[in-house]
Amino acid sequence: MSACMDARNAITIAEVPCPHCGKPVEIFDKDGKYAVNSVCDNCGFVFQAGEPSTLHNPGIPCLKGN
Ligand SMILES: [Zn+2]
Repeated sequence: MSACMDARNAITIAEVPCPHCGKPVEIFDKDGKYAVNSVCDNCGFVFQAGEPSTLHNPGIPCLKGN
């Protein structure tokens, strides 16, 4: 029932397009920030741990399927 609270500190693994080359890069999102450094295999761009994750959308509170 309270999946929203559980999700606060959970790490989400997702693929986001590299801002440099557009290739999907697997990132680890924790509470709206990158949990670890993720490096683009194609161009070497680094998603820095601690930076705001592009995955996170503050406009969407807690919608998870149905
Ligand atoms: Zn890239």
